[in-house]
Amino acid sequence: MKKRALLLMCCGGMLFAGCQNDDTDNASENEMSEQQETSEEVSEESSVGEATEETESVEETDSDEAEPMEYEYGVNENTYAIQPLENSDADPQVALLTYDDAPDGYAVEIAEILAQHDAPAVFFVNGMYLEAEAGREALTTIHEMGFEIGNHTQTHASLPDLTPEAQRTEIVETSDLVEEITGERPRFFRAPFGQNTEISREIATEQGMELMNWTYGYDWEAEYQEAGALANIMVETEYLNAGANLLMHDREWTRDASADIIQGLREKGYSIVDPAKISSPDREAASE
Ligand SMILES: [Zn+2]
Repeated sequence: MKKRALLLMCCGGMLFAGCQNDDTDNASENEMSEQQETSEEVSEESSVGEATEETESVEETDSDEAEPMEYEYGVNENTYAIQPLENSDADPQVALLTYDDAPDGYAVEIAEILAQHDAPAVFFVNGMYLEAEAGREALTTIHEMGFEIGNHTQTHASLPDLTPEAQRTEIVETSDLVEEITGERPRFFRAPFGQNTEISREIATEQGMELMNWTYGYDWEAEYQEAGALANIMVETEYLNAGANLLMHDREWTRDASADIIQGLREKGYSIVDPAKISSPDREAASE
């Protein structure tokens, strides 16, 4: 209990501090969160652009590879934008919706709003929320609605501060929990604060997960913790471009902004991309 409260505080505090954009003097923190302006070290392990044979689809519960789904998009390993694969004639004018730090208070309601608007999304979950029955039920609901479930670590710890073994636990435990609850291991990994390490990259690859940071997001900033302001900036920002990878969180104001964000994106000519069409690396045979 005590541990959890502490971690949550750390998560919120650091997340909010760590993700503040622009004109602050907080250079090193900005570096980690400003994906639109930095390109992280290039990972040799990433397999962007390569179609894989992995065929798990969100619609299927634990049946393996019944209906092959052809991937049409990949994640740009430098910018984290979503792009058509080389041989694909998929529409590049897409935006990806992602919701982090789920399932906390609002993920199921967000999922219901998305479903009403036929908008697919990735929910990046923290394993710490999957220990209680309420969290497990929320995840089951979201998964059964067809949403992609991503791995956002067990406790939202800052991976560069952990030993390699602790990083492995943070990542693998969450995938184990997700698989135990949904029957499927996550295909996407998003490090807390976007801070990947050499080890986290290795583990993600080994676990068959594509690394996925984001291209922009605002819902942790004080001035955008209000639905109207958030819906406006998410659609009007200069960072909205083809393949935009939108970072949002399991928060009340984000829930309230979601319908307007979807509508705004569509009015600007963007389709909401189905994460099931985004490629991820083949899994090493060893994983259960
Ligand atoms: Zn997070």
